[in-house]
Amino acid sequence: MKCTRCREKAVVQLRHHHSNFCRECFLLFFERQVERGIHKERMFTEEEPILVAVSGGKDSLALWDVLVRLGYRTTGLHLALGIGEYSADSTRKTEEFARARDLPLVVIRLEDEGAAVPELAAVTRRPACAACGTAKRHHFDRIAIERGFPVLATGHNLDDEAARLLGNVLHWQTRHLAKQSPVLQPTHARFVRKVKPLFRVTEYESAIYAFLRGIDYVVEECPNSVGATQLVYKEVLNRLEDASPGTKLTFLQEFLRSGRPAFAEPEGERNSGTCSRCGMPAYGETCSYCALLASAERRRARDAGDDDTEEREAAFGGRQRE
Ligand code: SF4
Ligand code: ZN
Repeated sequence: MKCTRCREKAVVQLRHHHSNFCRECFLLFFERQVERGIHKERMFTEEEPILVAVSGGKDSLALWDVLVRLGYRTTGLHLALGIGEYSADSTRKTEEFARARDLPLVVIRLEDEGAAVPELAAVTRRPACAACGTAKRHHFDRIAIERGFPVLATGHNLDDEAARLLGNVLHWQTRHLAKQSPVLQPTHARFVRKVKPLFRVTEYESAIYAFLRGIDYVVEECPNSVGATQLVYKEVLNRLEDASPGTKLTFLQEFLRSGRPAFAEPEGERNSGTCSRCGMPAYGETCSYCALLASAERRRARDAGDDDTEEREAAFGGRQRE
């Protein structure tokens, strides 16, 4: 097997691109794919400082590595979620990555902010990912705004986006379809632009990139991801991809090109209220993150014997943003 580009011995085969690559040509190909996506979707300019959400996994660390190599000004943002050994390992790997490359990194420990994911999840009676997602969205926007970053980049790859699209289509989530994009413009002055520079590369490609670059990432999945519907969608898409290479890329790209415009909603600010606790946008009295925190606090007080039924009943009252 020879490299399609330089005819040296190939080490990576990408059926959906009808290409084989040696190490050097693959790394170049990967970086160009990311760069092309950034330019094509006008994600950010070279002058803008970028906050990169880094979990410690292969995708977010590969993304940070590529953005630095492409010459962008980046700062990492890591949320220590408090999910046992998985989180401890994720924080350790992220900090080591930043230290080895002398990159600026902001670490936010959810425990220090009021409550970690397991405690937040316990008050929702829903899967932990719901509370985790609310906390992530809150701190991503908050830190970006407080520290003057106009844009936040996440490591979502083609597999993530195609699986999300499949889920949205299967349930005809038209509002979600309208918002599914590699670039999400802020709908409020206290939100920032969200971008996904890896949306054109597969999970396999980002794993190979991380491996070839010698990036030490967390291999274990979060224990809360077990049984997630998203994984079933990924499996289904992988079977389709095996039978017909290129399916995932076409599915997503054609949706962005011709499907998404059909679901577009009129733009405008929808979050006119302000959270009385944190000052971030909210539909009701508090934003959904602060409502979660308040519930966790009440539960803690109740468990400590300081029961307050009236307050507890008010938990999750009113409409929330996320
Ligand atoms: Fe959070 Fe769920 Fe992801 Fe775990 S799997 S990090 S709980 S969103
Ligand atoms: Zn709030």
